[in-house]
Amino acid sequence: MSKRYDLIIVGAGPGGAMAAKTAGENGLKTALLERKKDPAKITRGCAMMFAIESGYYFAERMYYNRKNGKMIFPVNGFSVDYDGPARNFYAWHFYAPDGKTRMAFGDYEESIKQGDQGRLSFVYDKGKLIEGLVDDAVGTGVDLFTGLNVDGIEKRADSLVVTGGGETFEGTFVIGADGINSRVAELMGFNKERTYYCPAPGITYYVTGLTIPQSESIILGNCFQPNAPVPILFWVIPSPYEDDEYWFNVSKEEDFAYVTKESNFAHWFAGAKVNRAISYVGNLRSPVSEPYRDNVLLVGDSAWFGEAEITGAMMCGWKAAHAITVALKDNKPDREGVLDYISWWKKSYPEFDDYRNFLMIVPFGLLFSEEELTYLFGLFEKPLPPNHNPFLVVRLVKKALEPMMPRIEKEMPSVVEKLQMLEIDKVDEFLGNFKTFFES
Ligand SMILES: Cc1cc2nc3c(=O)[nH]c(=O)nc-3n(C[C@H](O)[C@H](O)[C@H](O)COP(=O)(O)OP(=O)(O)OC[C@H]3O[C@@H](n4cnc5c(N)ncnc54)[C@H](O)[C@@H]3O)c2cc1C
Repeated sequence: MSKRYDLIIVGAGPGGAMAAKTAGENGLKTALLERKKDPAKITRGCAMMFAIESGYYFAERMYYNRKNGKMIFPVNGFSVDYDGPARNFYAWHFYAPDGKTRMAFGDYEESIKQGDQGRLSFVYDKGKLIEGLVDDAVGTGVDLFTGLNVDGIEKRADSLVVTGGGETFEGTFVIGADGINSRVAELMGFNKERTYYCPAPGITYYVTGLTIPQSESIILGNCFQPNAPVPILFWVIPSPYEDDEYWFNVSKEEDFAYVTKESNFAHWFAGAKVNRAISYVGNLRSPVSEPYRDNVLLVGDSAWFGEAEITGAMMCGWKAAHAITVALKDNKPDREGVLDYISWWKKSYPEFDDYRNFLMIVPFGLLFSEEELTYLFGLFEKPLPPNHNPFLVVRLVKKALEPMMPRIEKEMPSVVEKLQMLEIDKVDEFLGNFKTFFES
């Protein structure tokens, strides 16, 4: 016989764990179902940057108060305890394929002098964060089931039945917090209306022994392997685990070998040691139009186009659990009961910014030739103002280039043409052309 719950949460990532803690504190009878044996073990690539401190993001102005170990979400009005490692970074550097020319958001040398006050943001230990949230949830009486892969949901007259690992759970509401490849979203038919772009594969290496200039920054590098269909984009970001460890991310294993051994960046990696690697694949889809269907609410990545971010997923979990609490108190276990979450989600996500502004970073990295990129980044003699918001990158670069357009027109007109292609209504077509490449 299945046990009856007010709320069943699928997935104990940041979104599900935050929802479970909140629902538990509110006194809801809650089950938290997680596929991994240990929810705190990170098995999917994540740079673990605090997203973000440099401005509003998903309509929130979050920041970390290191003194009391609290992540603060002042617009939504809650905080999350975190007293693990927090390693600052001070600028965002975009490197051209020559390995030298770069465009920067933020003045590294000036900012690093100011410590916490000057940081762009910081990286932290997501596993420790999740561990804290899950422990708190269990402490409030939430039933945690680990090593349980949810594979079915059925809508009954006044409940939902969730199945997985030979067990059955019955609940009034379900939260689907099972990430970018959400089974809950698929089973409940949310994906039928979404545009499927392409798989987004990646491999993440934790590396020590690097010699990178101004290394306490986010690096997005670009290089061209001879005869390859598209350039290689790679990320290097400080790791929260050790002071001299960095998170290195590329699409494929072969790209790691090329960047670290043959590219113009190879000298950064001459003494590198790989401590461990994690591969992953996500399916890129447009966001849902509404994160509710038949008493199922989606939170975090399951509803968005990819990265709701750790902070965004926690905001969703917090808000969804409170909305469900009110619906149950008001005896309205239906869409109307949780309307507060639905309208909050729309305001904080699709209405706050168009997801394609984030995706535009892909054509920005892949569109230009080696020569064009070196020329383009070389135009920026001084750093641009600090920015850690990927939704703004292309717009800020285009704005900064506006006064230089007559010069670019004269010196490298192909760059002007390509800049004009960086518009959100052209992103779908661009990614469509790359589908075959990513699927291969
Ligand atoms: C390369 C990369 C870099 C990133 N860098 C950052 C960054 O720097 N900062 C940042 O904030 N975000 C970053 N993100 C995004 C971040 O990882 C996600 O947005 C965030 O983890 C979403 O949280 P979530 O709770 O929605 O989903 P997830 O963290 O994906 O959690 C989902 C949970 O559900 C479980 N699950 C899945 N399916 C089932 C099932 N069928 N049954 C039971 N359990 C299931 C999973 O095991 C997992 O524990 C990055 C993502 C990628 C891919």
